[in-house]
Amino acid sequence: MEQQANSSPRNDALSLCVDIGGTKTALAFYGADGRELFYDKFPTYAELGAEMLVREIGAHARRYGEWRRAERGTVAAPGPLDVCSGILLDIVTMGWKNVPVCGLLSREFGFPFSLINDCDAGALGVYHSGYETCPSLVYFSLSTGIGGGAVFGGKGYMGAGNAANFGHIPVAGEGLLCGCGGRDCLELYASGSGIERRYFSRTGNACGCAAIEAAARAGDAPARQLFSEAGDALGQAAEAVRAVLDPACFVFGGSVCHAWDLMEEEFSRRTRVRPHFADASGKQVLLGAYHYGKNILE
Ligand SMILES: [Zn+2]
Repeated sequence: MEQQANSSPRNDALSLCVDIGGTKTALAFYGADGRELFYDKFPTYAELGAEMLVREIGAHARRYGEWRRAERGTVAAPGPLDVCSGILLDIVTMGWKNVPVCGLLSREFGFPFSLINDCDAGALGVYHSGYETCPSLVYFSLSTGIGGGAVFGGKGYMGAGNAANFGHIPVAGEGLLCGCGGRDCLELYASGSGIERRYFSRTGNACGCAAIEAAARAGDAPARQLFSEAGDALGQAAEAVRAVLDPACFVFGGSVCHAWDLMEEEFSRRTRVRPHFADASGKQVLLGAYHYGKNILE
């Protein structure tokens, strides 16, 4: 129960935030005022296991000369996770199950860690990077997969643990089966991996999403069609979220947003949502983790 550890950080204590992702891990130290003091990122070699990654995190964090001033940490990771016991339950993309990540990090650094879903952290981070006056915000993260988060009144809304899982909103589609057991989930049509899979099934070419985007810009018809369909699916999902939550701000982020102009027309045909875009720094998850950790330990 790391986040319930009885710690009372000093006023000038630093926080260490870690963002564990399938391809890269990033970390940052924040001052008590929320200022970023140090940032580093490196590849995640998930196949080497969690203990090895934690040692890597330790080595990178200690490059910051003031790391000993940190007294608490927050780690963000893909769900599902058990935030109370600080355990990563099952990260399919990394092949990790039941990893006590908070315990491992606490042992490495000697201070308590709390845990947050990376999508929830992303939404909180977006809120704290210029949307603090927005009473209700939803964030769609469009990258390899599709995640999301909702922030109401400045607080992340997590439901029973997996709220705002926007990637699994069903859309009108071709009857494709999703890994979650559902059919025609948004993620199958508008995520980077979904676009790649569909491009392969239509053309036989195995390309990354960025290459498919480049092909679309060069006039490749199947590539253009797939981005139109991604925009259509995204518009359907955004309209469903608008109907249920009517948030004041819709913010989109992630690598697939780079191709927004290829999706925009179909998106707008489906929904009245007027999208905002997160900055491309990719640091929203760390910033959100900082604010989450600050709230639960104070
Ligand atoms: Zn699904």
